[in-house]
Amino acid sequence: MKVLFAGTLRDALAQLADGSAAPVPVAGGTDLLVHWPLRLAERERTYLDLSKLAELKPLRWTADALVLGGLTTYWDVLSDHRVWEEFPLLVAAARQVGAVQIQSRGTWAGNIVNASPAADGVPVLMAYDAVVVLESVRGLEEVPLDRFYTGYKEMRRRPDQLVVAVRIPRRPYSYQVFEKVGSRRAQAIAKVGLAVARSDAGWRVVAASMAPTIRRCSTLERLLEEGAPVRGPDDLIPAIARDVSPIDDVRSTAEYRRTVMARVLYDDLRETCGW
Ligand SMILES: Cc1cc2nc3c(=O)[nH]c(=O)nc-3n(C[C@H](O)[C@H](O)[C@H](O)COP(=O)(O)OP(=O)(O)OC[C@H]3O[C@@H](n4cnc5c(N)ncnc54)[C@H](O)[C@@H]3O)c2cc1C
Repeated sequence: MKVLFAGTLRDALAQLADGSAAPVPVAGGTDLLVHWPLRLAERERTYLDLSKLAELKPLRWTADALVLGGLTTYWDVLSDHRVWEEFPLLVAAARQVGAVQIQSRGTWAGNIVNASPAADGVPVLMAYDAVVVLESVRGLEEVPLDRFYTGYKEMRRRPDQLVVAVRIPRRPYSYQVFEKVGSRRAQAIAKVGLAVARSDAGWRVVAASMAPTIRRCSTLERLLEEGAPVRGPDDLIPAIARDVSPIDDVRSTAEYRRTVMARVLYDDLRETCGW
């Protein structure tokens, strides 16, 4: 195994652009290390350590956005009191990721690129209309997170591109909630994940662990926009069936996931929506 080090972003981008097989970026390593022995057995890979790139570390506030750097960790978010006030869903998700050790090393960008359908960081970022900022030697590209994934573990990122930032628009929210249903309250992978937010931009309903990718649920969002009557969780099932396609796996069945998503959504929204 070969590990490359970069002292500056420019240096890192040059190393990613050099040659036919781009090295695999390593941020916190908390996803990559889980598969390390497996990947080593598969083939020798070259890794690029990003940890020294000061340009990717800051979490910045601008007049109209919160900008997470490519190396911003969950702990960075938990340590900023303004995030607690303006983006409580980021805090709620960060607190649910692993334990303190993972929260201090794991990054939001790593969560996005790892592309697990059960990730906790991605749904809340998507509910806030986050934009992924990618950079390569060819320049900058911005992709809205809700259009970033193209299939299971597939995304609009070329191997020579780094996620250098995640931009989250600042807006007043009248409703926001994050739910993670797992086998236990801590250190569990989501069986069902949900992030729901309402702002002037409309309703956002994002489901995790319910499809090959984390995704927005456009039928449910329309139902909420139109104020359609809902008499109980079962009334939400047809919209859920249109939006997502859960599978049976070791963690739970598709039916369990659909039922739980309907009940959690109904319980969360019945007061706000007057159901
Ligand atoms: C014990 C344990 C518990 C966990 N619990 C949870 C949990 O509760 N919820 C959850 O969502 N996740 C969980 N995870 C998974 C993991 O911690 C998160 O997904 C984390 O955000 C990954 O970030 P990282 O910086 O460690 O990524 P890495 O492992 O460094 O990288 C992950 C992927 O992203 C790529 N990458 C990283 N940074 C960049 C960048 N800037 N540009 C381009 N590509 C990049 C890497 O090449 C790799 O493909 C857990 C992991 C462990 C080991």
